[in-house]
Amino acid sequence: MKLSSVTKKYGETVALDNVSLDFETGKITAVLGESGAGKTTLLNVIAGMVPHEGTVDGAERVSYLFQSPKLLPNLSAEGNLKLVLKKEEWGKIDPILQKVGLIGKKKAFPNELSGGERQRVAIARAFLFPHDVLLMDEPFSSLDLSLKKSLLELTGTLWREKRETVVFVTHDVHEAALLAHRAVLLRKGKTVDDIPISGEPVRDFFARPAEEETLVRLLMQE
Ligand code: ADP
Repeated sequence: MKLSSVTKKYGETVALDNVSLDFETGKITAVLGESGAGKTTLLNVIAGMVPHEGTVDGAERVSYLFQSPKLLPNLSAEGNLKLVLKKEEWGKIDPILQKVGLIGKKKAFPNELSGGERQRVAIARAFLFPHDVLLMDEPFSSLDLSLKKSLLELTGTLWREKRETVVFVTHDVHEAALLAHRAVLLRKGKTVDDIPISGEPVRDFFARPAEEETLVRLLMQE
């Protein structure tokens, strides 16, 4: 997937400023940046949700995982997953509910699930929804630490099955260093750094890859 000379303006605000980026197939790219850097706008551009200058190639079908699960309240966990599949694919639902640890709760409605369980359903749905590119917008940001660890690991496990192309927006350097092959830093709508992260995701939650310190320093530069 490839972005060429993408610029997005909201009135006077330049949210993305002439961004060109190649996203390698089968790799997880983290997009880091302070609030307002243009991260969500980048995902929305890739998803084809906002008009913009420049081109996006190779993102015909995208799946989007948000910070909040956005489940339909009147459908069960299973029902929310059925919604994104054709009837002949419903056989995929039980295996993924098993993997995310919710097979016993498949008939439960969102208000009968904990926040972490709801996000597990959303993760399952994001992987099930047919896509070329999986977009993740801070899906672990509002979780407590142990839940963050387990959902990062779960995402890594599901990713390893098909090795899809992922764009993972986060402001958390540790999350990027655990899950991504590469980190792109955005500042004021421009890409300012592009760092490979060694090793395979998902990495040990308690480790601090060498790249993490580099990324923290880069992120804090003016
Ligand atoms: P990030 O996700 O890195 O926090 P955003 O992509 O949300 O950054 O925002 C980038 C810039 O674009 C910010 O200055 C923000 O205020 C502006 N922006 C984003 N969405 C809109 C919108 N719908 N209308 C006007 N300005 C927006």
